[in-house]
Amino acid sequence: MKKQNKFKHIAAGLLALACLTAGTFSAKAENVLPGDINHDGTVNTADSVLVLRHIAELEKINDEYLTLADMNGDGEITTADAVEILVYSTTYNQPSISFPTELTYSCGDRFAFEDYIELPSSYKDITFEYTFPKVISSDGTGMPVLEYTNTGKIKAFHPGTVTVTATASNGLEAECVVTVEDNITVSNISVGANNLQVTKHIMTKNDAYNETDDFTNLDGIIIHSTATPGVSADIWYNSWNRPNTNVAVHSFLDDKGVYQYLPFEQIAWHAGKPCNQSYIDFEICEPAGFRYVNNVITGYDVAAQQAYFNKIWKNATVYTAYLCTTYGLSADTILSHAEAAKKGIATNHGDPDHWFKLHNKTMDDFRKDVAALMENPVSLDVISVTSGTQIPQTSDYDFFSSNDATPFDMFKVWGDESLRY
Ligand SMILES: [Zn+2]
Repeated sequence: MKKQNKFKHIAAGLLALACLTAGTFSAKAENVLPGDINHDGTVNTADSVLVLRHIAELEKINDEYLTLADMNGDGEITTADAVEILVYSTTYNQPSISFPTELTYSCGDRFAFEDYIELPSSYKDITFEYTFPKVISSDGTGMPVLEYTNTGKIKAFHPGTVTVTATASNGLEAECVVTVEDNITVSNISVGANNLQVTKHIMTKNDAYNETDDFTNLDGIIIHSTATPGVSADIWYNSWNRPNTNVAVHSFLDDKGVYQYLPFEQIAWHAGKPCNQSYIDFEICEPAGFRYVNNVITGYDVAAQQAYFNKIWKNATVYTAYLCTTYGLSADTILSHAEAAKKGIATNHGDPDHWFKLHNKTMDDFRKDVAALMENPVSLDVISVTSGTQIPQTSDYDFFSSNDATPFDMFKVWGDESLRY
């Protein structure tokens, strides 16, 4: 965009040059724009003049580029081709590339600059390269602001600002200033008449986030439960948003809503390989008021917990229906961690089936309810976006002063290297 005026000058200069000088034009064989007969990388009046001089036998077009001069494809080089080159040059060189000058993203977003480029039809052969400096963010992570993922998309990685340069193969350039923010986004998910609040705050300091590996293939959804009584979805952010964690999940869900902590495009460390490589997952938070003794649920009052269970069942089926619809997955691609383990694709855990069965529910019931919900339209509407480094904790459960679980349990249960590998 910014080079437009300069190009006009170059075109005028070349016209003068073409009239005054004869001789051969240097060729760059890799550049084959129709009409660019003098091979200077642009289509302009100089090319048109060269066609006329060729016809008048004042100058000869390099044999290699004769086909580029035959604009109307009639097999001959005529004045009609010179006219077409002039017409083409006005549409080819003059329209600006539609490229935004500023873009803002939240940490974890994926994007492609190709999505923003709009080209006149005469630009169809033009390709672009996008370059940006490796700017280190100021959030103390020592990580860059932007990075390419293994799928070729650019990841808005850590907070900061970077200038991206788009360079077209015809030499035009455009610049875009990209700002990445650490945002907390609160949205409402609707599945038919059901609503669910989802708070998205990416764990930018978790090692899984910083691996930048995206899914190349998505097979389904894995359902977990935390086996950590009384720790609600909001609380996990502060304990896992740090380096040297060997675990990471996409979301936590409780009776109040959902907290998404990793981008869905990205691989999480929740069930080991190969499951992690192709499944989105979420953890259902188990309620307070019981304990695990030697990995066995102890002191669980089913009647007292039924109200909480009903809420998480509804939230989890609604959330899964939303995910399946959004990502084009059918309900039979939903697996529990325990089912994935039985299939031999995940670590040997029993969740959440071990908890569901206390309330006479199975994963088949879950899939059936999700399939029914998927008959409805789904949507996600953003309610608010605020920048912040600390997620607001809304839980009325005081985890750190509770006897139901301790920080030690929280890390013991999850400090499982095999979840990553
Ligand atoms: Zn699990």
